Amino acid sequence: MNHTRNWYNAIAHIDADCFYASCELTRRPDLKGQPVCVLSSQDACVVAKTYDAKAIGIKTGMPVWDAKKLMPHAHFLSADFRYYGLISKKMFSILRRYSPDIEEYSIDEGFVDMNGIRSMWGKSYRGIADDIRRTVYDEVGITVSVGISTTRILSKIASEMNKPNGSTIIPGRRIANFLREVPVGDIPGIGGSRKQLMKKLRIQTAYDFASTPIERIDMVLGKVGVDLWNEINGNPVFELELQPPMPKSIARTASLGVVTRDKQLISSHITYHTTRMVTELVRKDLTTSFISVFLRLKSFESVGRNVRITATNDYSRINHIVKAIFKHIFRGGIEYRACGVIASAIQPDTQQGDLFTNPLQTSKQLALTKVMDDINTRFGNQVLRPANSLKKEAQEMKFQYPLLIAK
Ligand SMILES: [Mg+2]
Repeated sequence: MNHTRNWYNAIAHIDADCFYASCELTRRPDLKGQPVCVLSSQDACVVAKTYDAKAIGIKTGMPVWDAKKLMPHAHFLSADFRYYGLISKKMFSILRRYSPDIEEYSIDEGFVDMNGIRSMWGKSYRGIADDIRRTVYDEVGITVSVGISTTRILSKIASEMNKPNGSTIIPGRRIANFLREVPVGDIPGIGGSRKQLMKKLRIQTAYDFASTPIERIDMVLGKVGVDLWNEINGNPVFELELQPPMPKSIARTASLGVVTRDKQLISSHITYHTTRMVTELVRKDLTTSFISVFLRLKSFESVGRNVRITATNDYSRINHIVKAIFKHIFRGGIEYRACGVIASAIQPDTQQGDLFTNPLQTSKQLALTKVMDDINTRFGNQVLRPANSLKKEAQEMKFQYPLLIAK
């Protein structure tokens, strides 16, 4: 990690702060400063929360009844993944102004290749990072945290250091000092059993990890460890995936955390996975026509079933199918340890309206879209037309909302 040059490579990691909850606050400014939990679309479990809700112990994936016990005064809002997908697109379109080389890592996180960007903008990396944060906030209404360093992993660790709404810049010569402040478990990829292993080896900080001879890391962690060791030492290994190929499938699966026969608990995990899977589809403008649900038994055997459907990324339709499959494969009295949902037969979504493809939408227009969707759902599709075909009547439309919503 003894780099003699500061910027032989420059990667930025941009990470939105409690993204879903922040998205909700863009259209519910009245809730700013109060605890907010976002629930999966059928309100079964918490999928996101503001920092104050997190501080009280509310966790992502927690069933809503537990969260309400912990924090009855919090605001519990139903998730709206189409809206979050639109805000995500807007955020990435801002990042593209800074560099053409972007990796959309997840709905609320991206990597940006910053090499050569300083001369273009006539600013330091810190100046650019602050500029990105300000622009995203001004135009989208959410805060992001930015980390810039010489490798992907270092920039990702850096973006966590000053959350929320902070910039952390780690040039080559400052890597070693920076790593002394980072617990080894904060290195992405060092969790669970690997973290336990590090503890046994008395590796406590990222600095300890980086100073351990690579042969020893190779012996205990293999290639994963060697790659991480290089990245942490400032030697770039992981390149940005600039144009991800269309996925063959999108899977969301995880251990239940316990071995259980509790149908409601397993069902809430399935709902949570479904929510995340559909979000990924919506965000990438994809549809699925093949849904699989599986349960892993205590014995590690799996049971599962697939259903072919007409192509969709509609949450309620997909969730309905998933629920039906779950009912079919779940057996009372049997103990399960993991579950998951998989969407395959992925295709681009061709059903997009103008409002969803116009990259110049402001967050206000996005909020407007949502209100229109709600009203149209309630009153039929002809009640309101898209905002961009109604510029002159915008004033009047604004006036109509409270009346329509109040009804
Ligand atoms: Mg985030």
